[in-house]
Amino acid sequence: MSAEATIETVEAEAGTPKEGFIRCPKCGYEIPDNLVVCWKCGAILK
Ligand SMILES: [Zn+2]
Repeated sequence: MSAEATIETVEAEAGTPKEGFIRCPKCGYEIPDNLVVCWKCGAILK
């Protein structure tokens, strides 16, 4: 059961980017929220 708790914790942290950042819905990379294209994978964000 501790394994599940660990996975949930990781997912929660992965879904909370730093202030001023958003997380790319395609690759999950944290990027500044003023960008419109992910600099990691090239996904269009807006
Ligand atoms: Zn991306």
